[in-house]
Amino acid sequence: MADKQALVIFGATGDLALKMITPSLYFLDMEHHLPDDLIIVGVARSVMDDAAFAAKVRDSVARHAGADFNEEVWSRFAGRLSYCAGDVTDDAPYRKLAERLKDCAIPLCYLSTSPDFFGPIARHLKTSGLVHAETRIAVEKPIGHDLQSSRDIEAALEESFPTDRILRVDHYLGKDTVQNLIALRFANTLFEPLWNKDSIEHVQISVAETVGVERRWSYYDSYGALRDIVQNHMLQLLCLIAMEPPPDLEAESVHAEKVKVLRSLRPIGAAEVERETVRGQYRKGYTESGAVPGYTEETGGGVSDTETFVALRAHIDNWRWAGVPFFLRTGKRLPQRATQIVVQFKPVPHSIFHRTMNVPNRLLIRLQPQEEIALQIMNKTPELEAVRLAPVTLDLNLIDAFRTTRRRIAYERLIFDALKGSAFLFVRRDEVETAWSWIDRIAAGWKERDMRPLPYTAGTWGPSSSFALTERQGYSWVE
Ligand code: NAD
Repeated sequence: MADKQALVIFGATGDLALKMITPSLYFLDMEHHLPDDLIIVGVARSVMDDAAFAAKVRDSVARHAGADFNEEVWSRFAGRLSYCAGDVTDDAPYRKLAERLKDCAIPLCYLSTSPDFFGPIARHLKTSGLVHAETRIAVEKPIGHDLQSSRDIEAALEESFPTDRILRVDHYLGKDTVQNLIALRFANTLFEPLWNKDSIEHVQISVAETVGVERRWSYYDSYGALRDIVQNHMLQLLCLIAMEPPPDLEAESVHAEKVKVLRSLRPIGAAEVERETVRGQYRKGYTESGAVPGYTEETGGGVSDTETFVALRAHIDNWRWAGVPFFLRTGKRLPQRATQIVVQFKPVPHSIFHRTMNVPNRLLIRLQPQEEIALQIMNKTPELEAVRLAPVTLDLNLIDAFRTTRRRIAYERLIFDALKGSAFLFVRRDEVETAWSWIDRIAAGWKERDMRPLPYTAGTWGPSSSFALTERQGYSWVE
């Protein structure tokens, strides 16, 4: 019988672990969602002792928590923390872990490292006797670089963990608003009858960042926007918008519906890339923070054909969505930080008001900078002299109706579910692989057509041809 439970974080001193994972664990502790006997062990390369690790975590938690930082909660949380230094490709840290955790159950190993380490870490865990019947392994996106590398990583993980104990994280799925999108669609009768080609004109999904690549240059340069953002976050959002109602909320039921959407994506290959996609790379320019360098001039940068911007038009070839374009756009060094989905409904079939006054209804689902859901509907203004219409935004922020405290970090929900063993908010292997097949074809098309990224000035909305992508069909990007 185990004395304690242990959660092991690999890459515990990295950006993601300090910025998101440890603060999420602190908040879970604050709300009494962590088992009393849970200890948290950080593993990373830097040499430091437990106290130095705890001090690093404290800095980051305090920054994140602001007014929610509480010394009493911190001291309970700090009592759970310890650190194990070592190279994850060597045996040494696993020997130390095996010794330290010999009386512990290990419900979760969280891999917040480069995907190159996923296979080696899983293998070492297994050979060191650290994979028990209850142990799950959580891995961060991106899983691989293309379909083949993702299959290689999965095969390596599956050598050490049963497939249902591998949790693939896409943190967008942990956001309240994303889960609320599922409730909005399937817990209300209002939208579902309209949720198809007859009523919806087009859908836009945007992930706009103001930041550049900065210190992550060498990582980013081997991925680019298509692999770093479109393959995972954006296709996951597209799945939730487009999927059929699942029979229930079991993980397998939802995953099956998402895979059907991914399989229905019309392939975009060499014959289509020039028409359906736009690639861009930022040049130096100005943002809110002042003058910024171009992508190739970032620290550690150099000559590169990697895209920092992608816009594309996708089609889902099934009965529900035939003919409805899904426009996807993501980029770095854009004018605003905004992650949003816009579902634009068709115009009224016959307008009794002046044509120019009619703005189509839009459902707006925003994940960043703040989470919100809003419906834009047309209203008459109260003037006497003329009949005028104006769009009014109906706030559907159901989250706020229930919220009495702070907004949660997406990782809180994901770690909570991972500890419980619920796979609903994680991504199944075939979702990752079907997404890679679609993405690989685009990347191969770019290569075959020698379609290099077009330059855009930092602080603008990308190459002008991305506007043509929507305007060709009479639409414009919603900013
Ligand atoms: P990072 O470079 O900041 O951190 C990497 C961590 O791994 C550090 O703790 C480092 O010490 C450790 N590490 C590296 N090599 C090691 C080795 N040989 N042995 C032991 N430890 C080693 O990276 P990050 O930004 O935290 O990202 C981690 C993973 O999460 C990446 O796969 C990234 O793509 C993914 N991710 C990051 C973010 C983010 O916001 N940073 C968001 C989503 C996904």
